[in-house]
Amino acid sequence: MAVKTDEVRDLAGFEAPEGFLVTSFYLDVNADEFPAPEHIMKAFDSLIHTAEDRRKDIEDGLSHDAEESLRGDLARLREWIKDWDRQDANGVAVFSCSASGLWEVFATPTVLKSEVSFEPRPQLAALAAFLSHTKPTAVLVTDKQHARIFTMKHGEVREWTDFEDFVPHRTEKGGWSQNRFQRRSDHWKQHHIDKADELVLKLEQHYPFDWLIIGAEDQDRNEITDRLHPYVKDRVVGYINVRIDAPEAEIVDEARHVREEAEEHLISDLIARIGEYAGAGGRGTIGLKDTLQAINEQKVHILLLQQGFEQAGTRCPECGMLYSGQLETCPACGGRVEYIDNIVDAAVQKSLELGSSVEVATEFEALEKIQCIGSVMYY
Ligand SMILES: [Zn+2]
Repeated sequence: MAVKTDEVRDLAGFEAPEGFLVTSFYLDVNADEFPAPEHIMKAFDSLIHTAEDRRKDIEDGLSHDAEESLRGDLARLREWIKDWDRQDANGVAVFSCSASGLWEVFATPTVLKSEVSFEPRPQLAALAAFLSHTKPTAVLVTDKQHARIFTMKHGEVREWTDFEDFVPHRTEKGGWSQNRFQRRSDHWKQHHIDKADELVLKLEQHYPFDWLIIGAEDQDRNEITDRLHPYVKDRVVGYINVRIDAPEAEIVDEARHVREEAEEHLISDLIARIGEYAGAGGRGTIGLKDTLQAINEQKVHILLLQQGFEQAGTRCPECGMLYSGQLETCPACGGRVEYIDNIVDAAVQKSLELGSSVEVATEFEALEKIQCIGSVMYY
C-alpha cells in the first residue's frame, strides 16, 4: 500500500488518448476527522457528487466515447470505495481512465486535500509533495555491542535486523593486562562499528535510501560516522539520542524530527544554490518562465516549488512543450496549443517523467525569493 516513486514516475508518463480525460480523485480520509467507515463514505459521497456536477459541466465538449469513459471512472470509484480498506491511510488518490484501462490507487499516511479533476493527464503535484516529504531514510542505532537498523520510506516503517557483537568490558585492573584488554576492547569496538557499516551498506543495495540518521552516544558519534563507507557517510543528516532498547515508536519519532529539520535545511540550501547559480547565468532558474524553459530543454536536475502554487499557462499537445502565459501557437513546433488552468502541475508531471527530483516547500511563502518555483539544472 505504500506509494512507490517508480509507480508515480510511470504514471507521470501516462497520457489519455486524444480527446479523452483522466480522472484524478484525491480523498482526505484523515483518521481524526474521519475515524469510522461511515465518515469516509460521507466524504466520498460529497466528492463524487462534486465530480458528477463537474462531469456534466464539461460533457458537451466531449465525444460520446470520452464521456462514457468518465462515467466509467466514476462508476468504478463507487464500486471501489465499498471494499476499500483504509488501514492506516490518511489520504488516498485514485487515477482512472476507463477508455485506456488505467486504474491506480495510492494510499498515503499523510493527509491529502480532497479534490477531483478531469485532465488529459493525471494530476500529480499532491503526490509529488508527499514523496518529497517522505524520503527513504535509514536509521542506525548502535551502542558498543548492538546495532538496530530501521527504514522509513513513504510512511512505511520497518526494522531490518538485530545483531549482537561481543565486546569485552573495559577492565579497571592495572598494569600490562589492562593495556592489553584496552586494545582488545577497542579492537572489538571497531570491529562492531565496521560490521554495522557493512550492514548499512548492504541495506543501501537492497533498499536504497537518501538519508541516514545515526543513534549513538555523543562520544561515539564521530567515530561511527568517520568509519562509515564514503558512499553512505554523505547521507548522514543528523543524530538522535535513544537507548539501544528503546521502543520502535520512540526511535521513529526522534528520527522524524531529525528528518523534518533536514528537509528545512534542504529547502533553504536549494534556495541559496538556485539564487547563486541563476545569478551567475548558469545552472539555476528562478520563476515560472525560465523554469518551464529548463524543463522543456530537459535540463532540470531538481525542481523546487511552493506547495499549492498554481498558474495558468500553455501546453503544446504536439511536442509537449510548456509555456507560461497564453500563446496562440507553439513557438517550438508551430502546432496548435491548449491553454490550461494549472501549468505548474504539468511541470511537476513532466519533471517526474524525466526523472528529475521534485522538492516541495510546505512552509507558507518559503519560496518568495525565487517566485514560488525554481530549478537546479544538470552540469
Ligand atoms: Zn509544440
